[in-house]
Amino acid sequence: MSYQPGKHLPPVNGESAPYWEGCREGELRLQQCASCSHVQFYPRLVCTRCSGRRLSWIAASGEGQVKSFTIVRRAVSEAYAPDVPYVVALIQLAEGPTMMSNVIGCDPETVEVNMPVRVTFDRWTEEISMPMFEPT
Ligand SMILES: [Zn+2]
Repeated sequence: MSYQPGKHLPPVNGESAPYWEGCREGELRLQQCASCSHVQFYPRLVCTRCSGRRLSWIAASGEGQVKSFTIVRRAVSEAYAPDVPYVVALIQLAEGPTMMSNVIGCDPETVEVNMPVRVTFDRWTEEISMPMFEPT
C-alpha cells in the first residue's frame, strides 16, 4: 500500500493540518468538542453534535474494530495495481468515530467484521503519512 505516483493524496488544509501533523508523528488525532465532549472524525470547523466551535485535538488510542470492508481486486488505476488485492474498510475507532482506511499486514481473505485492529502509519510523502490498520 506504499505511495506510487498517481495515487490520490489527501488535501491538507487549516482544518486537517493538525491531523496530518499527528500522523507524521505516529499519532492518530481526533477532534473533541469542549462543549459536549463529542469526539469526531474527519476534522471539521464545528462539532457535528452541537455545532460548537470549541474543538480540541486528542490522541486516539489507535485501537478499533473492522465495522465493514470490501476486498479490491481490480486496481482503479496503474498506481494501485501493485496493491491488489487489498482491503478497504470502515474502522470503528475505540473513541467512537468511524474512519475509512485499509487493513494491511494480513491475507485480505482473513479480514472479518469485528476483527480488532490497531493503527499504523505508512509514510507516503514528506507531508502525508497514511493511517492504516493491522490486526492485533
Ligand atoms: Zn459538541
